[in-house]
Amino acid sequence: MLGRLRNGCWMLTAAAGSRAGPRAHSSSAASGLLRSQAYIGGRWVEAGDGARFPVQDPTSGRQLAEVADCGPREAREAVRVAYGSWPSWRAATSKERSNLLRKWHDLMIKNKDELARLITAENGKPLQEAFSEILYAASFLEWFSEEARRVYGDVVPTSSPNRRILILKQPIGVASVITPWNFPSAMLTRKVGAALAVGCTVVVKPAEDTPLSALALAELADQAGVPAGVFNVIPSSKSNTPAVGEVLCTDPLVAIISFTGSTATGKILLRHACDTVKKASMELGGNAPFIVFDSADLDLAVAGAVNSKFRNSGQTCVCANRFLVQEGIYDAFVEKMVKAMHRDLLVGSGFDEQTTQGPLINERAVQKVESQVSDAVSRGACIVTGGKRHSFGAMFFEPTLLSNVTTDMLCTQEETFGPLAPVLKFRTEEEAVTIANSTNVGLAGYFYSRDYAQIWRVAEQLEVGIVGVNEGLLSTPEAPFGGIKQSGLGREGSKYGVDDYLEIKYVCFGGL
Ligand code: ADP
Repeated sequence: MLGRLRNGCWMLTAAAGSRAGPRAHSSSAASGLLRSQAYIGGRWVEAGDGARFPVQDPTSGRQLAEVADCGPREAREAVRVAYGSWPSWRAATSKERSNLLRKWHDLMIKNKDELARLITAENGKPLQEAFSEILYAASFLEWFSEEARRVYGDVVPTSSPNRRILILKQPIGVASVITPWNFPSAMLTRKVGAALAVGCTVVVKPAEDTPLSALALAELADQAGVPAGVFNVIPSSKSNTPAVGEVLCTDPLVAIISFTGSTATGKILLRHACDTVKKASMELGGNAPFIVFDSADLDLAVAGAVNSKFRNSGQTCVCANRFLVQEGIYDAFVEKMVKAMHRDLLVGSGFDEQTTQGPLINERAVQKVESQVSDAVSRGACIVTGGKRHSFGAMFFEPTLLSNVTTDMLCTQEETFGPLAPVLKFRTEEEAVTIANSTNVGLAGYFYSRDYAQIWRVAEQLEVGIVGVNEGLLSTPEAPFGGIKQSGLGREGSKYGVDDYLEIKYVCFGGL
């Protein structure tokens, strides 16, 4: 039930749904694709010192596996092996590379249930979302298996009759790939698919929270026949990660660092990469505005808002982070949004079929949401629903909506990466665009309007790399993914996704 308090806040009396407390799912990680060693040069190997680190189920806190803890030595070895494998891989025909990517894709589809269960076990996202991630991840291998055969150069008209100008596109070399935990499979294939397609070899360092998905993909790459040394995976613990990252960004044999993660980490990697002038592909943080104009279809906007905000419990870099709602429909939006949250969101274990909201990835993530809520409340925001840790388990937070939000609050200035929807009120289109753009990041932005002139104006003015017009879910292999400002460098997926892994060479034919 939603009621209005005297201070102008909306208040909710019934909490969002949940299930009984977390249970350990014993079958979840008992997978035929469960691998715990590093994959270097086509072999499964331990770290040189035999060190391992634990991987935990964020739902129950139970240990799922212990994984080889690679350090700088293994990182250098993996880079050396990838460099050694590069000449033969780049010499393979594009059709040969395409066929191998396609086989890898087919094996992902064949093993989709097992791969999805691994994601849910180590990341906690609901099984249905994990399953969607596997299809999405596999779609990048399919897409880039097709793009592999379309890496065209140019023949350019010249002003000299005795010359011809050719432009070749050639693979850049070894790619260091550092992936995040929120899409442990899809962020890997979106990078590795592109790199392998054009003839680069790769070393992947998966996130310490979710290395099992990357290792399972290595097993399938092996089964697909990807040659030894072309694709290497070196898991490493949180404490080893900075040293491994430094090797991956500074080793002279590496040509490009491709990273998805926080802007803060991206800056560290860019600093490392500058001494050897490496190329960098960076998919960093966002602070996505979600604008609802008076002219919007309100029901469509609410459905899009719930999808955009609460997928993966709010842990995606394109999740709506700030809801800007025009004053004429502000109250109606808040009311409908809260109703939709109660109707559609169920907190629980990702292995329970009806769950839509799993755990956050770790304690730090829960603390961040908690501190943003208390900061907002201390500055005058109202908790309409949620607002605190969820009783289901230590890593769970209640789906939360705040009203009376203002631009000085942390929740509008920082990326939340959690199930928190702060709703601001605005009066004019100009004000909404100004607020939306008043940030140093620019990944995704969304707005809902049925005014065509407004749609053109706002789509052009938003300072982001990805715009959703009357749409809350945008990611697809056919479209370029990436941001402007401090949200990153380069684009992934689409026909542009191979560009970062290619060098352009001008060949001048003279004396003709
Ligand atoms: P989050 O804070 O959400 O975990 P990060 O940017 O820290 O995001 O993590 C994304 C990826 O970056 C993970 O694979 C993580 O291990 C890696 N990472 C974090 N810090 C470093 C670092 N100093 N050098 C290299 N990789 C890093």
